[in-house]
Amino acid sequence: MSTPAISTATTTDATGTKKILLASPRGYCAGVDRAVETVERALEKYGAPVYVRKEIVHNKYVVDTLAKAGAIFVDDTDEVPPNAHLVFSAHGVSPAVHAAAAERNHDTIDATCPLVTKVHNEVKRFAKSGYHIILIGHEGHEEVEGTAGEAPDVVHLVDGLEGINTLPEFLHEEKLIWLSQTTLSVDETMEIVDKLHEVYDNLENPPSDDICYATQNRQVAVKKVAEQAELIIVVGSQNSSNSKRLVEVALDAGAAHSYLVDYAHQIDPAWLEGVNTVGITSGASVPEILVQHVVEHLAQFGFGDAEEVTTAQEKIVFSLPRVLRPSDRTQKR
Ligand code: SF4
Repeated sequence: MSTPAISTATTTDATGTKKILLASPRGYCAGVDRAVETVERALEKYGAPVYVRKEIVHNKYVVDTLAKAGAIFVDDTDEVPPNAHLVFSAHGVSPAVHAAAAERNHDTIDATCPLVTKVHNEVKRFAKSGYHIILIGHEGHEEVEGTAGEAPDVVHLVDGLEGINTLPEFLHEEKLIWLSQTTLSVDETMEIVDKLHEVYDNLENPPSDDICYATQNRQVAVKKVAEQAELIIVVGSQNSSNSKRLVEVALDAGAAHSYLVDYAHQIDPAWLEGVNTVGITSGASVPEILVQHVVEHLAQFGFGDAEEVTTAQEKIVFSLPRVLRPSDRTQKR
């Protein structure tokens, strides 16, 4: 899904000017783009309010902007009036949530990212084939709840290396496979998988790992920038898994400091003291305008040049849910 590295940045600063390195790819992925457009199109088509279960994507700015346009964000289906239009977020939902929405006769529009749906389908397939599934992911994250909900009796969550100790005993003859959340740190996940193989010699690997192309590409790009910048600013929200992973990856890759901010004004001037090169990236749920605000904000601290450091080109686009596609005849119902 990605092309080989193409770095456009210079690594030294011959002029002594303070500079900015922009990791690329950064920001919106195809799944987020589709989910946000789903709510926008639903508002256009049905008018406000359109209900959205949970944050459509984990970004404050995006959620606030859609709320101003008429979206109502709720925690669960029981807060939505019967027959209302209800969008499921990019993180996906369990069959139990689909059933609860059907019971209340909600007109549902599923904005689940197709790459999350792929993991749901794997859970269903392996559960049907008699596997126990070790799901590597973060406890309480909406994506994990939705994925595990496909086969709750045979899915066992592992949250971090320590989570391995909480797994039940599996018989040697039992079929065992691991799957993962889409937005994890690639390196950390592989560390967990290696450890799992040490503990369970009957553990099988899935046909491919589930960490999505966007998560992987943003981690590769921030690693490259972290080799050249003293400070990495990650634009993203605290509840955004892939954004938080970018901070961790940047620190692991050698950045002295890395911070997660929703907005430019949250940058503490003390972070910039003695720093000549700042790297910037953003999570997969972050619109580019927020990155540009950070670039503009840093100008007042003498950071003038902004160079792209590009490690992959992304061309993936997901089509909208069928009911919202402009050419779809069901739109006229
Ligand atoms: Fe889909 Fe990956 Fe984007 Fe999540 S981060 S919405 S899995 S493309």
